[in-house]
Amino acid sequence: MSLRIVVTVKYVPDATGDRHFADDLTVDRDDVDGLLSELDEYAVEQALQIAENADDAEVTVLTVGPEDAKDALRKALSMGADKAIHVEDDDLHGTDAIGTSLVLAKAIEKAGYDLVISGMASTDGTMGVVPALLAERLGVPQVTLLSEVSVEDGTVKGRRDGDAASEQLEASLPAVVSVTDQSGEARYPSFKGIMAAKKKPVESWDLSDLDIEAEEVGLENAWTAVQAVAERPARTAGTIVKDEGEGGKQLAEFLASQKFI
Ligand SMILES: Cc1cc2nc3c(=O)[nH]c(=O)nc-3n(C[C@H](O)[C@H](O)[C@H](O)COP(=O)(O)OP(=O)(O)OC[C@H]3O[C@@H](n4cnc5c(N)ncnc54)[C@H](O)[C@@H]3O)c2cc1C
Repeated sequence: MSLRIVVTVKYVPDATGDRHFADDLTVDRDDVDGLLSELDEYAVEQALQIAENADDAEVTVLTVGPEDAKDALRKALSMGADKAIHVEDDDLHGTDAIGTSLVLAKAIEKAGYDLVISGMASTDGTMGVVPALLAERLGVPQVTLLSEVSVEDGTVKGRRDGDAASEQLEASLPAVVSVTDQSGEARYPSFKGIMAAKKKPVESWDLSDLDIEAEEVGLENAWTAVQAVAERPARTAGTIVKDEGEGGKQLAEFLASQKFI
């Protein structure tokens, strides 16, 4: 029986680019360079390693996003994923995490799966909630924030590192897991991988393919709304201490004045 792994990957604005908000207070994704969310590269990497250790496995990458989100799928396919699904629909504009999890859950059910792997958070919304929302909607266990993950005899196992202790966790498949940026370096696509990705299938679905009504997603139907946005104040130069013998004392006084000590 082939192990069906679905990896959720998000297309995000390039953090080095000039990111700004549109008039409707959503992040302006037009004319802004975007890429595969870096934290999702770790999810793709762990999916590929699990597939390489399995007798028979298939890795599908899935994204919900605008036209350009195909670039995120192409990157994951060039890393070695087998196929991709792109859910795109004008009515998805401004969809919140609740709505995104609905679309992802319906797409995952339609694709068929045994294991869903997500990143620990996206690098733009950074909420870190979608994996839990997904598990709830799919009615399966979730094992999140893993720094190590493997699959054996229908069970997903992993290690979650906390400040004081590490936990060994496991769940029967089907299940949802998320992996951290400590789960191991993500491979770089080889030239062969990039060329092969051009031929790999990318299915495009819209809301009607998933029996989702426009009233269930989009900015109008979001459970949270951005009220206002303001430029982050420019960073100040800060206090420069020239150590003429009293540097340590001045530093301690500064830290005390800031209630750091
Ligand atoms: C600056 C900013 C602030 C926002 N604030 C809110 C808010 O307060 N409340 C709210 O409900 N929404 C908010 N959103 C919208 C929210 O980002 C999107 O709905 C998003 O799709 C889900 O949230 P996230 O990116 O934080 O996901 P996270 O929960 O951080 O994502 C975890 C993982 O889920 C998967 N994933 C997330 N989105 C997608 C996707 N579109 N396609 C495929 N996989 C995905 C990825 O594997 C990712 O690593 C905000 C967006 C931005 C850019």
